[in-house]
Amino acid sequence: MIVLECRTIDIAPTISRLLKVPMVPPSGRSIPEVENYAKERSCEKAVIIVVDSLGYSLYRHLSPTMRNLHELAEKGLLFKCRSPATITSPAIASIFTGYLPEEHNIYSTADIYSERSKDPENPRLKSIMEWAYRAGMKTSAVIELEGAESFRGRIKDFYGVPNSEDILDYDRRITEYALQSLREKPDILAVHLRALDRYSHRVETWDEMKKAAKTIDKNLEEIFRNAEKDTIFFICGDHAVHGGKKWLKNATHEEIKNHEENYVALIVGCY
Ligand SMILES: [Zn+2]
Repeated sequence: MIVLECRTIDIAPTISRLLKVPMVPPSGRSIPEVENYAKERSCEKAVIIVVDSLGYSLYRHLSPTMRNLHELAEKGLLFKCRSPATITSPAIASIFTGYLPEEHNIYSTADIYSERSKDPENPRLKSIMEWAYRAGMKTSAVIELEGAESFRGRIKDFYGVPNSEDILDYDRRITEYALQSLREKPDILAVHLRALDRYSHRVETWDEMKKAAKTIDKNLEEIFRNAEKDTIFFICGDHAVHGGKKWLKNATHEEIKNHEENYVALIVGCY
């Protein structure tokens, strides 16, 4: 099997190319395999779903449990995708902007505001959703409340869910907002699901991890089914799973290497 490789900073420029979103070219590059895949289909809209902690090896391990995501990968493309950060804020900022952490300097939500105050027009701080909004397209973000607030004045439609101890309920609420947003037929929708990450920190067994994976897969299925026909999905991890010691106990040499190199899964496809 040939394993396709890319970097998470390539996602934003790829969407920019596919949907013709004008953007100052970032450090990432449009992914040729995705361009070829999209050529044979009409991809007018894009949905990005960040599945927190979905490392490449973790995805391979959990994919039998994640039936809908696995099906999308079968119809589409699966990448081993290099992430430039091992924690969430800089990793997601890289996905959304196409720049490395040392370029966007966003290591926490507060950094978004302090970096913008230095230069409000800094292209390295602009997400693909914001570039699209500026070009007159309809874009939406559904993420944690504080992160969502950072989109105020930058894009029109953003939905925030307050952090919660009940992470399955949290993801449920994110998904409901995502479905609500899809009814408005956005050109680009960005969503962040967190159950797998929370479970990886707090649980001890694979059975419990599978429960989180299954719930995420169910949420993905609903988003897939409610999107417009001409939508291309980008489902990706932000970083390899935390608590490597716990989850790499019986791992192969290759799985350990993928983990150490911080490879995440990226699944691209039309449903
Ligand atoms: Zn994360």
